[in-house]
Parts: sequence; C-alpha cells; structure tokens
Amino acid sequence: MCGAAANFLLPFGQQTEAFMPFVRQHLEALANFLMPNTCPACGDGLGTSKIPLCWRCLQQLPLTQFEGMQDNPVNRMFFGRLPLEYASAMLFFNAGALAQQLVHQIKYKGNQELGIYMGQLMGQAMQNTAWGNSIDVVVPLPLNAKKLKKRGYNQSMLLCQGIAQILQKPIENVAVVRKVYTQTQTRKTRMQRWSNVAEVFDLKTADILVNKHVLLVDDVVTTGATLDACGQKLVQIPGLRLSVNCLAFASKI
Ligand SMILES: [Zn+2]
Repeated sequence: MCGAAANFLLPFGQQTEAFMPFVRQHLEALANFLMPNTCPACGDGLGTSKIPLCWRCLQQLPLTQFEGMQDNPVNRMFFGRLPLEYASAMLFFNAGALAQQLVHQIKYKGNQELGIYMGQLMGQAMQNTAWGNSIDVVVPLPLNAKKLKKRGYNQSMLLCQGIAQILQKPIENVAVVRKVYTQTQTRKTRMQRWSNVAEVFDLKTADILVNKHVLLVDDVVTTGATLDACGQKLVQIPGLRLSVNCLAFASKI
C-alpha cells in the first residue's frame, strides 16, 4: 500500500497531518503546471526546484571573490572618503550580462524571492571571513518613503534578509532614513551625483547602533556616492564600525 493511501487508515487528525506533505507536493506540481517556474535570467524551466535560479546560471554567476580580498576595487573606492572596516560586492555587473538581469528582476520585476536568495549567497560568501563573522547588525540602504510606496519593497532589505538568515544577525532598518526624493542618477555626471545625494540621509534611532559593527547593504555600487552619504551619517554614531557589501559592482572603466 502506498504511503498516501495508508494515511486513510489513521485517525482523522493524524491523517490530515500526515497527508499534508502529499497534498502540498501535488498542489505545487499543479501550480507549476499552471504558472511554469522559469529561471529569471535565461527562461529555462526550474521544475519544482526551491532555488529561484537555474543550475547553469548559478554556475555562471560572475563572482568577484572580493569577500576574501581586502585590497579590492570597492574598498579602494572609499579610501580617504569613508572609514570602513571592509567593502565588497559579490558579482561583477556588466551591461546586458547576468548580474544586470538579476538586479533588474529584483528591483523592477518584483522578484523578491530572488532578492532574498542572492542575499543568502552574499551571506555564505562572507560567512567564513573574519570581517563577516564580526558583523553585529545588517542595515539596508534606505529608500525614501515615496519610492518605497511606489516599488512596494526595498530591494536592499531583501538582500539583508538573506544575509541576516545566514549570518544569524539582526536587521536594523529604522536607525537611518532617507529624507528627500532624489531624481534618477542615471543621466548625471559624477559631481552632480555627489551633490545630489549629499545630506539626504538622517539618523533616527542611533542608540541601537552604538559600538556595533554595521554592515550597510545595497544592490549595485557604481561611484559609491550614495553609500558614502549614508555611511557618513552612520560613522557619526559613537563606537560604530562600518562595512559595506553590495550584490554587484559596476566598474566605471
Ligand atoms: Zn538560468
């Protein structure tokens, strides 16, 4: 007798409990049939995989390995500007390539599951490093209220959720806020970008972060201007040590 059929012989309460995995499995198969589960990067079927990215794309992620390389381009970006314990980004971001597709999915296509999963990969890459192990609290680069309402979520918060799950650390998302609605950064020169983000962040509940090693998280680092503006506020908190980690690094060269 198969396991599912044997469940009918159990008392009703136990029967329901034992039957649930069977029901769930079949409901998932049905949902997958009605709404095929596809890889957000290449469109290949994912079947019933719990990972929101196919195996081939996972193998092809353009990993920087900056997590174990202190003298890296993201760290160098902040030299002389912002005192950091460590700065890193997990992927190389190139136009039209895999990392850009993933960021697009997370940021504009509502693929929140992918955001959390990429955060988990970031956490795993930091997990066995001295700097990663000394993180006390994870802080997403804040979105302002208007953009948060429009998008419905903060993509940096999704990354933080994944990182926090792996590192087993709390997330703090009310200590620092973004004050004004900045125009899109895309068409601005480097200098314009810098002046545009200056003074847009404000500290709220700074006490929570006193004497903590804070990991500030964003999706893509390009000039570092926004992270720098937020970081400048955070390092005013007594005893705070700051590190930065991003999903992707877009080189300007
Ligand atoms: Zn794929």
